[in-house]
Amino acid sequence: CGIVGYIGHREAYPIIIKGLQRLEYRGYDSAGIALYDGESIKLSKTKGKVADLKEKLENEISTSGTLGIGHTRWATHGVPNDVNSHPHYSNSGDLVIIHNGIIENYDSLKKELINRGYTFKSDTDTEVLINLIEDVKKNENLKLGKAVQIALNQVVGAYAIAVFDKNKPNEIVVAKLGSPLAIGIGEDEYFIASDASPFIEFTKNAIYLEDEQMAILRRGKDIKIRKIKTDALVDPYMQELQ
Ligand code: GLU
Repeated sequence: CGIVGYIGHREAYPIIIKGLQRLEYRGYDSAGIALYDGESIKLSKTKGKVADLKEKLENEISTSGTLGIGHTRWATHGVPNDVNSHPHYSNSGDLVIIHNGIIENYDSLKKELINRGYTFKSDTDTEVLINLIEDVKKNENLKLGKAVQIALNQVVGAYAIAVFDKNKPNEIVVAKLGSPLAIGIGEDEYFIASDASPFIEFTKNAIYLEDEQMAILRRGKDIKIRKIKTDALVDPYMQELQ
């Protein structure tokens, strides 16, 4: 399984599709990509190989956009099929996520979200996480980084995630616990991937997130790296993000 993402000034799609191919050695059963083209999210995903995704995606959506995230899935919750493939949307359609790892307490979180009116298309633990992030974000009227942090404080499990919000298409939020996550820093651009191979040709400047770290990657801004586990509401670092 693997993740790749890009935010900057280049076309994201070629970087992501090539990057997913470089991560194929990690093993997977499905693949998918979400791109933001300046107006809306374009998403395509499928059970099968990255080559299958490439063919499907190029028939299905326009590949333009300078922000995107891509995923190869090794199914843990829900069979390998198109619907369970990543990326996953939140209920509003505003947020989109890719995730490697396992949300162990997804069942109790899912029940709580269903009680609050959320519905689920897939059988994945990942779709529970993106709706938990959405719920926290809406209820407390928070920025994405803060909502991700608070949601992850309710999660038991392992993850490398990347999330973006179509209403704030100048940032990607990433977080890591257990699964690997590398960030490549270029000139006014960021790359993310499970290892550095997808972006090594573009930048030698790489950071490997440590467990329980998250990062906010904003176009044209310095990277912000924060601890995830915290007394979230009183953390002075995260208050900057409000
Ligand atoms: N647990 C998630 C799923 O089953 C992610 C699996 C992965 O690491 O690819 O969809």
